[in-house]
Amino acid sequence: MPVKRKNRGRAKGQKGSEPMIQCDNCGALVPRSKIQRVTRRVSLVRGDLFRELKKAGAYISQNIVTENLCISCAIHYGVLKVRPREERKVREII
Ligand SMILES: [Zn+2]
Repeated sequence: MPVKRKNRGRAKGQKGSEPMIQCDNCGALVPRSKIQRVTRRVSLVRGDLFRELKKAGAYISQNIVTENLCISCAIHYGVLKVRPREERKVREII
């Protein structure tokens, strides 16, 4: 059977079943190997004020937020990109 991607869009391998995880954006239930984990720093201060304070030498702490995104949300927010047909078979190590 022809497959769209070499790993069938998952990182499960021969493991069998695995727990479902909810997408933090849309709430969809997605298998754990298919989820995209995104970690980013979030500042509690607005962007322009943040730059101004940093220039003045102030230390501003930032929260580290980890999100679980489903594939469609990850593509929507630019975490993943849709690749051409031949490139989908190439396993990308990030
Ligand atoms: Zn989602």
